[in-house]
Amino acid sequence: ASSDEILLRTRGLTKSFRGLIALRDHQIDLRKGEIVGVIGPNGSGKSTLFNCITGFSKPTAGEVFFRHDRISGLRPSAVVAKGLARTFQGSRLFVSLTVRENVRAAAHLRHQTNIFEAVLLTRRYFATQEAANGQAEELLSLVGLSHHADRLACELPYGDQRRLEIARALATAPDILLLDEPAAGLDSAETKQLADLIRRIRDSRGVTVVVVEHDMDLIMNLCERIQVLAAGEVICVGTPQEVRAHPRVREAYLGH
Ligand code: ADP
Ligand code: MG
Repeated sequence: ASSDEILLRTRGLTKSFRGLIALRDHQIDLRKGEIVGVIGPNGSGKSTLFNCITGFSKPTAGEVFFRHDRISGLRPSAVVAKGLARTFQGSRLFVSLTVRENVRAAAHLRHQTNIFEAVLLTRRYFATQEAANGQAEELLSLVGLSHHADRLACELPYGDQRRLEIARALATAPDILLLDEPAAGLDSAETKQLADLIRRIRDSRGVTVVVVEHDMDLIMNLCERIQVLAAGEVICVGTPQEVRAHPRVREAYLGH
């Protein structure tokens, strides 16, 4: 399903925290419509990579390009407006909004620079806006949460909250979706559902997906390409078969 068109490139992307190099000289090319995994031990720089791509962390060196634009240095809201959306390792839902309101508030983030404005717009002005409603219903149906639309986000079971986070990210109509440990805390049935959902997102919308995960079965079954990080450095990139056979991957995992 992926094409040859390169959507996102990182070049020499580096982040250090007072001498600790969390990410060193990172490079990747993401093609439109591919599902790519990023794996590595705890502390290997996976979340730092997402933070540097999405504007939550300012790279110490290097660049990120989305299509022909340099996006490194942009604020998170500007990165969302370009067409990149992410989820976080921990939940960041609007807990006092309903499930539907969470999705609708996020829809405004593609055009609004401020989360609080987006929430206000949702409540005050767009309460009856049909396009926003229609889109929210479609996304809730996609992630299997239509029946919970009017519940408060904080009342949902954990697995449902994680799928709501994905619906919320999709509400900004991204070209690229970055998921940081989306299967954490899910049981094996929920993890299978998640893999199906990610495939459907790619197949139905052509979205490029990058998944950071510890669940090796999920990564190996879902991803067409995998990049492996260790101590902030890329140690290999390849198909699941290539990565599984790579001596440095075995070393990084078995040696830990
Ligand atoms: P991963 O997501 O692969 O577990 P991280 O990207 O979160 O790893 O972290 C990589 C390294 O950077 C770790 O050593 C971590 O402690 C360090 N680190 C991450 N964020 C910060 C921060 N804000 N301040 C200082 N050190 C950080
Ligand atoms: Mg992390």
